[in-house]
Amino acid sequence: MNVLLLGSGGREHALAWKMKQSTLCDQLYIAPGNAGTSQCGTNISMRIDGDFEKMEAFCRKENIHLVVVGPEDPLVKGVYDYFKTAHQKNSFGENWLGVIGPSALAAQLEGSKAFAKTFMQKRDIPTAAYREFTADTVEEAKKYISSQSLPVVLKADGLAAGKGVIIAQTHEEALSEIEQMLTHAKFGAASAKVVVEAFLSGIELSVFVLTDGKDYVILPEAKDYKRIGEGDSGLNTGGMGAVSPVPFADAAFMQKVEERIIRPTILGLQEDELEYKGFVFFGLIKVGEDPYVIEYNCRMGDPETEVVMPRLKNDLLALFEALSKGKLNEIKIEQDPRSAVTIMAVSGGYPGDYKKGLPMQISSPASADTLLFHAGTKAEGDQIVTNGGRVLTATSYGNSIKEAAKKSSEALSGIAYEGMYFRKDIGYEF
Ligand code: AMP
Repeated sequence: MNVLLLGSGGREHALAWKMKQSTLCDQLYIAPGNAGTSQCGTNISMRIDGDFEKMEAFCRKENIHLVVVGPEDPLVKGVYDYFKTAHQKNSFGENWLGVIGPSALAAQLEGSKAFAKTFMQKRDIPTAAYREFTADTVEEAKKYISSQSLPVVLKADGLAAGKGVIIAQTHEEALSEIEQMLTHAKFGAASAKVVVEAFLSGIELSVFVLTDGKDYVILPEAKDYKRIGEGDSGLNTGGMGAVSPVPFADAAFMQKVEERIIRPTILGLQEDELEYKGFVFFGLIKVGEDPYVIEYNCRMGDPETEVVMPRLKNDLLALFEALSKGKLNEIKIEQDPRSAVTIMAVSGGYPGDYKKGLPMQISSPASADTLLFHAGTKAEGDQIVTNGGRVLTATSYGNSIKEAAKKSSEALSGIAYEGMYFRKDIGYEF
């Protein structure tokens, strides 16, 4: 099977690493990839958030059978739909399996908070109580906010690079923010609509399924660490580390997740005729003993993928093939019983301003139980240099989260570049 993988982060290196191990894998191309993905396949320079004609031409030329989409942007922009239509007009051949991802309409589960809330409300999927507002209803929004208990959560409806959620501790702050978002386009078009919702207090985790819109398989769950500082302090980031399994996600809890959240979501896709052939990422919060949905994402998470893929024992390309052929019901997911912990090394200054292009020294980890996944790196001749805020992550297996975290921390001591920083407390509460 010839595969084109879209994306360039740690998630894509982990997906590429996993797909490369498949006996079904012939050629693997990564667009644009990073210095790590080039160890698994061929990096190609290609725009992925548009210009799908060029992508189509590449797929025809290289006889690609499967397109796997890492980030949400191409999905929200309709890469699934584009290839479906292109295949109908002029077949990619009998071995064509399609695009792993949802249609643009289904990707609205991530692309629009209001769409996701309406979808959940329609089928009583547990989530925070909410209302949605636009510039025309800003006065109503203010009245609603004033009547809510604190903290209160404001969410820009559209994609806002992970910055569109405000947890306001006072009514004054919430009233000023709603004005900024609705009347002064604080997040541009993304905040033309705003969801105001109740704050839920609990512990978060992420659950992932792979679905063809009818059947689904549940992948290993994970918990990520978003704050820059130890003890979950400081600014939010794209993710500083993750652990899997999540100790509090026991069988009883996961049964509730499946019955109350996963199953009604997949049924909802069918009822609303939302075409979906990919990963669903459920961002959940455990309140008391019960799961609630904080958000849907229409792709895998980063850095969660860097622990989920190492713990998934199934052949990933065999899963994608089963999905494409409507045979997911024949698949049984097997998980590595060990714990996996990933720790992300970031650039000095991140998530604020940081330098790029800094030369890196990378030593192979001492433990055979450790994998290095590149995120923001690139090759310049023989030298690997930094190329982003989140640079490289070490994932280790262990008999406990503590043991796995220790190995990942030790592996990062073999990496050096100016300003390198990582959290030494990933998985601390376990
Ligand atoms: P989202 O983009 O919807 O995932 O929100 C970003 C982060 O804000 C989440 O990961 C949570 O930590 C937090 N958050 C969002 N909604 C709520 C809520 N209703 N209650 C508590 N925390 C929330």
